[in-house]
Amino acid sequence: MTIFSRIIRREVPADIVYEDERCLAFRDVNPQAPVHVLLIPKKPIESLDSLSEDDRELAGHLLMKVPEIAAQLGLSDGYRTVINTGANGGQTVFHLHLHILGGRGLSWPPG
Ligand code: AMP
Repeated sequence: MTIFSRIIRREVPADIVYEDERCLAFRDVNPQAPVHVLLIPKKPIESLDSLSEDDRELAGHLLMKVPEIAAQLGLSDGYRTVINTGANGGQTVFHLHLHILGGRGLSWPPG
């Protein structure tokens, strides 16, 4: 079980900013921007590579939640959404998560 499953089960504390029956959003413990939130499905999907056809609606739900959560967090000047996948993608927690970063101008390309 990953640390994110433990957060869903309330076994590990987190600063939760949004929750519904299918997903949870909480602040990253090591923020890379003034606002840095992780949005995760409650279903323990390892990564984008692990999505199945059954997850099509859930994947859409997660994406549709991003602008809603960004607005709630006051990111009216824009934000970045990142999904790291696998070792070369920089993924460290193998429970699918969308990073939502904002509150400052973000440079491009990423490192
Ligand atoms: P990634 O490198 O894309 O897998 O991102 C994993 C993210 O999870 C990192 O930004 C970590 O800082 C964050 N993280 C790890 N453990 C926790 C935790 N207990 N609560 C909040 N964020 C966490």
